[in-house]
Amino acid sequence: MKVLDLQCSHHHSFEGWFASQDDFENQLARGLVACPLCADTTITKKLSAPRLNLSAPQETANVEPAQLEAALMKAVRQVVANTEDVGDSFPEEARKMHYGETAARNIRGQATPEQTEALIDEGIAVVPLPMPEAFKGPLQ
Ligand SMILES: [Zn+2]
Repeated sequence: MKVLDLQCSHHHSFEGWFASQDDFENQLARGLVACPLCADTTITKKLSAPRLNLSAPQETANVEPAQLEAALMKAVRQVVANTEDVGDSFPEEARKMHYGETAARNIRGQATPEQTEALIDEGIAVVPLPMPEAFKGPLQ
């Protein structure tokens, strides 16, 4: 849905709701857009606020992904700092802890989506964590 600020030739301003820009232009070309005050069909579109903002700095668009990435990196660092890497034996180790065969501790490691699902099915708390590329290699 697109809301457009419209104006008739008598300078009456009103809002028009259209499915899309094309829908508006189509209705306008067929004389279906009329001023609600004077029924004038000579309608022009006023520059709407979003259009006027196009020239504004694009900082706001860039800030969020960067912040998200920073937050993710921070979370991953915390996990890495506070867990023991058990690598491919993660599902096995998680099971041992769950069934009391080994003392509970925080571990991390690799598990396939199927293994993760199986663990969750068994009631074992696992948190899939997206690993940024930087953490996939050997840790320094
Ligand atoms: Zn009018």
